[in-house]
Amino acid sequence: MNDPVCMMEVDERSPFKSSYNGKVYVFCSAVCKQSFDKNPAPYVK
Ligand SMILES: [Zn+2]
Repeated sequence: MNDPVCMMEVDERSPFKSSYNGKVYVFCSAVCKQSFDKNPAPYVK
């Protein structure tokens, strides 16, 4: 899976996860997760 914020390849067992519109997204770090949680719309297409 890819981190939707920085586009880095991330293992799906990553501890940094969020769900949005019924889909689960994984992140490389808490920083990317926070950016997504704050404003997910631009990262989701
Ligand atoms: Zn990232």
